[in-house]
Amino acid sequence: MSIVNFKGVELIYPNGFHALHDINLEIRSGEFIAIIGRSGAGKSTLLRAINRSVAVTGGSATVLDYNLRDLNNTALRKLRSRIGFIFQQFNLVKNLSALANVLHGRLSHVAAFPSLFNFYPEADMKLARDSLASVGLEQKMETRVDELSGGQQQRVAIARAIVQNPALILADEPMASLDPKLSEVVLELLLKFNRERNMTTLVNLHVLELAYKYATRVIGMREGRIVFDGSPQNLDKAVLDTIYEGAKS
Ligand code: ADP
Repeated sequence: MSIVNFKGVELIYPNGFHALHDINLEIRSGEFIAIIGRSGAGKSTLLRAINRSVAVTGGSATVLDYNLRDLNNTALRKLRSRIGFIFQQFNLVKNLSALANVLHGRLSHVAAFPSLFNFYPEADMKLARDSLASVGLEQKMETRVDELSGGQQQRVAIARAIVQNPALILADEPMASLDPKLSEVVLELLLKFNRERNMTTLVNLHVLELAYKYATRVIGMREGRIVFDGSPQNLDKAVLDTIYEGAKS
């Protein structure tokens, strides 16, 4: 099944900046893909275009059978409920517990955030607890997020993303705020959910070694274009030069 199908996609931001050029990309169910490239290459824009946080302005763009160029609010909510997004800065509600944050992910389709636990059905509570346990945080469920380490916070964010059982996980440099050892923990977890639950995963990485180690497919971006799409084994010097050399950082 095709998860993402972009043909000739262009994205011009409202200020006129042309951030994506002629993006042709097909992602199939179960893939684990790393996106690499310099800062400013368009990696984050590509992820945000896929979950329709930003609107593509040209070409044809389908995600999980939704046409991104023709989505009403209901369809957009449905699409978003099937995509888990993991941010560099975690984006958690810091003064709430790990469990409350994960429950928030469970109810991402509800506009108002119910701050009292009694609002949540027991089935959702169980899913949230199971999700935290699956990232190794069973002992920290009731702990406020601002009392957790950075690595633990990112694991809460992963639990929040997977609790809605998404078909697609988008992770935007999820380890950028973590030290190298914790980066591996984050990637191991993403790989685990990819393999065990067939969650298709797209992760922006600024550390090339991690792309070699974890990804089965690498997309190299430069100045808003895909300049490489293939196996990490084919990332030879010429390809890496095309992606990184002389580019503005
Ligand atoms: P990367 O994730 O590879 O660092 P981004 O996708 O964040 O790159 O940015 C790509 C380009 O788009 C950059 O030149 C950035 O300044 C520009 N850009 C990002 N967001 C916006 C925006 N909201 N409006 C205008 N330009 C933007």
